[in-house]
Amino acid sequence: MLEEFRNYQDGIMPAGPGARDLSEFFAHVDGKLVSDTAQAAGAPRIQASDRDVLNLLTKRARTLHLGAANYCWFTDPSRALCLKLAGTPNADRPLVGMCDSARCPQATHHPCHRPVWAEHADQAKVFLGGLGATRKTEKGRLQSEYERAQRVLLEIDAASSSPVPDEESA
Ligand code: SF4
Repeated sequence: MLEEFRNYQDGIMPAGPGARDLSEFFAHVDGKLVSDTAQAAGAPRIQASDRDVLNLLTKRARTLHLGAANYCWFTDPSRALCLKLAGTPNADRPLVGMCDSARCPQATHHPCHRPVWAEHADQAKVFLGGLGATRKTEKGRLQSEYERAQRVLLEIDAASSSPVPDEESA
């Protein structure tokens, strides 16, 4: 989580349905790290130590579940798509095996997830190319998977090249 916070400070933003929530949280933490006194005096911004940052990230970090294709921020079971799909909305942990991170509001995608999505898109493309004209149902499913993977990749790339937060508001 510290790595993603530092990425945020460098303008490498999260992508995915939960990106806005996470960015807002990082912005809140970033704001707390800037001392009012230093701001008032117009002092140059000082990079806070990892320990200071970790103190502010700890609570949210406890909600984090690491997936190969996404991060799951399990802050609210009632918003978890996997639990809705499984019909167990009150469970106290996510069902990672049923994760649909492209649609779940608690999911974020980051550059570290890019290879998984790129491989997924490549595989879908290869399979699509091998299907005959009569395999319409399978073709439709694979086409959707391919498009979803491409969309996630585009979002990760776009978020990675976002302006750094300070420049954005300048
Ligand atoms: S669908 Fe995925 S991201 Fe959403 S709560 Fe379940 S495991 Fe987490």
